[in-house]
Amino acid sequence: MKRQIAVLTSGGDAPGMNACIRGVVRRADKMGCRVWGIGRGYAGLLDGEAQPLSTRSVSGVIQRGGTILGTARSDEFLRPERRQEAVRSLQEREIEGLVIIGGDGSLRGALELERLGMPVVGIPASIDNDLPGTDISLGVDTALNTALEAIDKIKDTASAHRRAFIVEVMGRNCGYLALASAMAGGAEIVLVPEVEIDVDSIIREYHRAHRVGKPHFIVVAAEGARLRALDLCEHLSLSRPGEEAFEVRLTVLGHVQRGGSPTAFDRILGGRLGAAAVELLDEDQHGVMAGLLGDTVAAVSLDELLAAPRPFPRELYDLAQSLA
Ligand code: ADP
Repeated sequence: MKRQIAVLTSGGDAPGMNACIRGVVRRADKMGCRVWGIGRGYAGLLDGEAQPLSTRSVSGVIQRGGTILGTARSDEFLRPERRQEAVRSLQEREIEGLVIIGGDGSLRGALELERLGMPVVGIPASIDNDLPGTDISLGVDTALNTALEAIDKIKDTASAHRRAFIVEVMGRNCGYLALASAMAGGAEIVLVPEVEIDVDSIIREYHRAHRVGKPHFIVVAAEGARLRALDLCEHLSLSRPGEEAFEVRLTVLGHVQRGGSPTAFDRILGGRLGAAAVELLDEDQHGVMAGLLGDTVAAVSLDELLAAPRPFPRELYDLAQSLA
């Protein structure tokens, strides 16, 4: 049985991280294992920033967005000698395992620590949903619902004025959030980094929508889409001189999508994955990520899952187009 483990949150914050920390601490507490909370991700790990966490100290955090441990990006951690020092100092403090809650970059860091002899279990937390090895990452459901709420509101005002709106949502390399929020919000067009889309076809659709009497024209664009939201806004605005068409507006949702109280789904997922990570460490299953496959929490090797990108859900994209 493990006597001491540590937990940290790293990279971009995601709603549900606190529910997950709580899951780690409470599961470990029940097993008689002490948990150290490392502040500010890998930056805090390098600086030796750790505090003991107890069942009591994680009360009242389940509904809070962000992360009570703080998070950071650390360039210093990219230096192998610094990672080696971090592992040595964890070993000196008799910490026998590390739970790392974060996105793609953080899990790559986790794999490096595992290779240096520190048993790690990763937990996928990223509002982009860009990680393979799990159906969904922690924070995606909350971010999706936040984006959707904004799209619904924008649609109301768009319909009132008969306007076109381009709504930019997060997603630099992965269009999942754009695709899912466009589909749930009934948007006319979705722009994602994974699919090239011809601007002329969007312009044609924009004019057709107006001609057939649609009250609004909504485009949801991932921030990393090849056709940038701002460029599309200009194209559409310039395409209408002399012609009846929607007025065009751009809304960038930005960081509101990261914050906020996690949905029930993210709280439950956080608790499940956090508890599973502790159990995996206790069973000496490490170098893995605890993910959700179907309705089951499963351990997937970090080595294997980080070797290939998450496949783009092309079927969902085609369906979104056909239902628009
Ligand atoms: P996220 O985990 O949200 O994807 P980042 O990509 O910024 O966020 O990664 C968080 C931190 O993980 C980085 O600041 C860095 O310290 C560490 N990291 C990222 N990529 C690697 C890598 N290939 N090897 C080791 N550490 C990494």
